[in-house]
Amino acid sequence: MLNNIEITKTKASKLKDVDFDNLKFGSVFSDHMLECDFKDGKWHAPKVVPYQPITLDPSAKIFHYGQSVFEGMKAYKDSKDDVFLFRPLENFKRLNISSKRLAIPEIPEDYFMEGLKTLLEVDKGWIPTNEGSSLYIRPFVFASGNGFHASPADAYKFIICTAPSGAYFSGKLKVLIEETYSRSANGGVGFAKAGGNYAGQFYPTQLAIDKGYQQVIWTDDNTHEYIEEAGAMNIFVRINDTLITGPTSDRILDGITRKSIIDIAKQQGIPVEVRKITVKEVVDAAKSGALKEMFGAGTAAVISPIAGFGYKNEDYDLPELKDTYASTLKTRITDIQTNKSDDPFGWRVKL
Ligand SMILES: *Cc1c(COP(=O)(O)O)cnc(C)c1O
Repeated sequence: MLNNIEITKTKASKLKDVDFDNLKFGSVFSDHMLECDFKDGKWHAPKVVPYQPITLDPSAKIFHYGQSVFEGMKAYKDSKDDVFLFRPLENFKRLNISSKRLAIPEIPEDYFMEGLKTLLEVDKGWIPTNEGSSLYIRPFVFASGNGFHASPADAYKFIICTAPSGAYFSGKLKVLIEETYSRSANGGVGFAKAGGNYAGQFYPTQLAIDKGYQQVIWTDDNTHEYIEEAGAMNIFVRINDTLITGPTSDRILDGITRKSIIDIAKQQGIPVEVRKITVKEVVDAAKSGALKEMFGAGTAAVISPIAGFGYKNEDYDLPELKDTYASTLKTRITDIQTNKSDDPFGWRVKL
């Protein structure tokens, strides 16, 4: 059990240097971090310490075998200075689902939840209040234990860092439907937030950027006939009035934004279908005008509208609608997150 978390405060706060009106995404880091070590077969009590570099042995297994997982979540502060998290237990559970797949020892719930709350209390002044801004929270676990033997490490670190952040993307995305590369495969680690999944996306994404797109739409590894995710976001497609997203699987990450959007859309009376989406039906719908919207969904950007896509050397533009599901749903979810509206689903957690 966890009683008091040891806190060591920084002697040189950087808070006064932060320009809260011009925040980028995840590029300035709060004064403190939570640090927790796994050694001698167990997780030891977490501590809050000043944000600082970590020293690792060159043979630490993270460098060689990529044994690492992470999470992404946000804290919001309302006009009364109250602080809220959004479905934090879901992030905790998913971190352990990812860890299990990477043979990393699972973290006790109170180490994560109490550790996070203590960290946020210490760095409460770093939580932005500007519209669209929030404190981005990055929990991660990696193999700090040594050795060139290709086997799980005997020591790990669990760290939570935070970064006051503005909006993730600006503007609408132009995306390329991928026909060659894959993000994930059956039996693989696509459902886990494993660091290596993202390293593997960078090269194909760069090729798409070189062709004038900003993101890749991942398709299934086997046939490339099904639309699966948008970069590191889940994807939604609106055909006529129906909102469609693919079912989660080994390959598609179980996003918290995704499942919240499904619930909100249903509550708002929007017809929702969770089923496989073929590239063909999206292209056909784009040609006939039935394709009204596409957007990515994830914690960082919340909802990223897609302006158009490329497929087999052809570009397709989406219509510019006045009232979109994307903007309705984004407003609804962010109002719940930031305590501007009621919370019928009980998702908000007050610090
Ligand atoms: C993190 C992530 C998402 C979005 O998950 P959220 O819980 O909504 O932030 C979707 N797809 C991939 C591949 C991801 O890594």
